[in-house]
Amino acid sequence: MLKRTEGIVLKTTVFGEADLIVAFLTKDFGIMRGFAKSPRKIKSRFGSSLEPLTYSRLSFMGKEDSNLPRITQSDIIKPFNTIREDYSSFLKAAEIIDIALRFLPEREPHPELFSLMLGTLKGLERETDDRLSYLYHKIKFLQIAGLAPRLDMCGRCGCGLMERPSAHNRTKHIFYVSHGAVICSECGRDTGQAVHISEGALRFYASLLKWPIMSLERIKAPEMFIRDLALAIDSHIRYVLGTGPASADAVIYKIMTAK
Ligand SMILES: [Zn+2]
Repeated sequence: MLKRTEGIVLKTTVFGEADLIVAFLTKDFGIMRGFAKSPRKIKSRFGSSLEPLTYSRLSFMGKEDSNLPRITQSDIIKPFNTIREDYSSFLKAAEIIDIALRFLPEREPHPELFSLMLGTLKGLERETDDRLSYLYHKIKFLQIAGLAPRLDMCGRCGCGLMERPSAHNRTKHIFYVSHGAVICSECGRDTGQAVHISEGALRFYASLLKWPIMSLERIKAPEMFIRDLALAIDSHIRYVLGTGPASADAVIYKIMTAK
């Protein structure tokens, strides 16, 4: 059975002496692993098409139920090497790859996540310190996976948090990580990890959930909104994944050298 699709390399694992197992996020089959025979023996085009982040047109060959089909062809559409060569943008890319690998089951098609990943990589390539694309990616990813926190109402009484005029943008609310929600002052305080988040950031979050990725290029968001939201979203992701904060080097090490 021959399968053709487009894919982005998420991770490569050395197998035997010269072979590789490559995990892709594909357009048609979601996360898919394939086996590449000897791409490391010679510095070939095939070999470079299997570098992490490379976006290619792929062909797989194998039985329908094979969980490790052979990658027979891989033609680079976009290598994204500027991201690999810049520590700060590679670190961001490595983190979103890590999240995709942990959250997504294999062979479950998610064409919208594929477009999101591609759009984010293009954003990181245009501007290496693009914190907004990076934040947007995580929020949209959670939204598509059905795991986005609800930040428009109190997680306990359900009252609206943003019904006052936007002059109160600097008002701080408290996001409780274990609830995945903001709890209003009427409902009182809770224990557990809490992140302060400004009302403006809550409004900005509501907009990001609605906007398509193309609109990001035209947006200049206040630094405070990005900072507040990034802190809340990162804490939420770590809580949902059940992981502590990973060090930058550990994330990169995992993506580049996984065995
Ligand atoms: Zn409440």
